[in-house]
Amino acid sequence: MKKALDQAQNLKRGKDVTTEEKQAKLDEIAAAIIGREPKLDIAKSCLNPVPGEGNPDAEILLVGEAPGSQEDKEGRPFVGASGKFLEEMLTSIGLRRDDVFITNIVKFRPPENRDPNEAEITACLPYLLAQIKVIQPKLIVFLGRHSMNVFFPELKISQAHGNVFRRQGHVFLPLYHPAAALYNGSMRTILLEDFAKIPVILEKITETK
Ligand code: URA
Repeated sequence: MKKALDQAQNLKRGKDVTTEEKQAKLDEIAAAIIGREPKLDIAKSCLNPVPGEGNPDAEILLVGEAPGSQEDKEGRPFVGASGKFLEEMLTSIGLRRDDVFITNIVKFRPPENRDPNEAEITACLPYLLAQIKVIQPKLIVFLGRHSMNVFFPELKISQAHGNVFRRQGHVFLPLYHPAAALYNGSMRTILLEDFAKIPVILEKITETK
């Protein structure tokens, strides 16, 4: 893990880094995750670690909470019911999964879909930071309050959703978790409305760079 992080630190920023170089670094981070964090029980109990996947040059990095049962089976993020709705939201703004990078704060499934605990978040966070460093996304989208609160413990999702926050040179957009919309029509409308802001936000970020 340390090696992957050190190498991520050494990456040149911006245009100097080729897609292949970024992919190679992302593969190294994924290999470190798949090698499994020895201190974590969930790394041993899960079926498959879920490092994340997508475009190394993605402008948008989507960050969920932790893999669920389907993700655990396939080793891929957001492939269950919430993933279907996530894909629908991406389509609504003219994007596909391959255009973005999708991952989670915690890379291993907590048993019985319980919330990840502090130790699990702390152990997995360096992987996410390394992925951010390599991809250098224009916009980091939090899918749900759990991922938002890791970076912004002071925020409430009911107030923060759909609003842009800037910190340490990164731009963040918190959204409700797609699972919240599965059985709640008004939540679905809110999520689609918030998602529709993404192209405008990206344009504004480009203008101010
Ligand atoms: N929920 C998450 O937070 N992440 C996934 O990958 C799937 C469901």
